[in-house]
Amino acid sequence: MAVITETTLRAMLRTGVPNPFVVHAEDRFTPAATDFLKGRGIRVEVLGSANAFSGGSEGALEQTIPVGVSNRHIHLATEDVERLFGAGYKLTPLRALSQTGQFAATETVTLLGPKGLMKDVRILGPARGVSQVEISRTDGFSLGIHPPVRMSGSLEATPGITLIGPAGCVVLESGVIVAKCHVHMSDLDARAFHVQDGDSLMLQMLGERTLIFPNVTVRVSPRYTLDFHIDLDEANAASLKTGDKVRLLGKNGKLFSSAGRC
Ligand SMILES: [Zn+2]
Repeated sequence: MAVITETTLRAMLRTGVPNPFVVHAEDRFTPAATDFLKGRGIRVEVLGSANAFSGGSEGALEQTIPVGVSNRHIHLATEDVERLFGAGYKLTPLRALSQTGQFAATETVTLLGPKGLMKDVRILGPARGVSQVEISRTDGFSLGIHPPVRMSGSLEATPGITLIGPAGCVVLESGVIVAKCHVHMSDLDARAFHVQDGDSLMLQMLGERTLIFPNVTVRVSPRYTLDFHIDLDEANAASLKTGDKVRLLGKNGKLFSSAGRC
């Protein structure tokens, strides 16, 4: 298997990037490499598979979106970072996430619920305005809290939880959610997929368990990288892992025609 990166593609610019760009079925593109090809209208052809997608041109046979699985994690407000880790403390990036500017921090905290605790829960940075804890339904049973399924930032009437850090504790009155699965995409991707911000996408899992997710909200922004975000429960139910692909079947309750439009 080859992982094709944007750097690889840029190096080919001198001699010309072939169109169509032919790869083997097991090859993988980084999100930046996919954007690079789409931005130049270069079509990808997959050898030994019917799974080809168009780089923004009309008549796409199949359009696939890479999966990003999120384990339980926390976004912290700046004042909560200081309460948990000490005055003036700044989070330390451990690795970059698929969305530009977002990172997994080296720091972790313990979650304490009415029924139990969970150690080493990863903090994602940078710090935000309001703290938000994202857990799976399974985590909720261990902790003894049952948060609603919500999009990030929609925190009204959500349960709270206690966070324990090395320098102190924070009792959140609200802010715990089970994240609603969603797709991030750039404006360029949205044009290629014929969708708009806020559309509800129908996605089919391509692995051993061919589940369909019929109502996946799409968020479009120039700074977004194409990614389908699901939690660990959803990933396990569908036998998916980060980097797997799902197929876009339709939007807003209607299946796409073979030309890739409703
Ligand atoms: Zn996301």
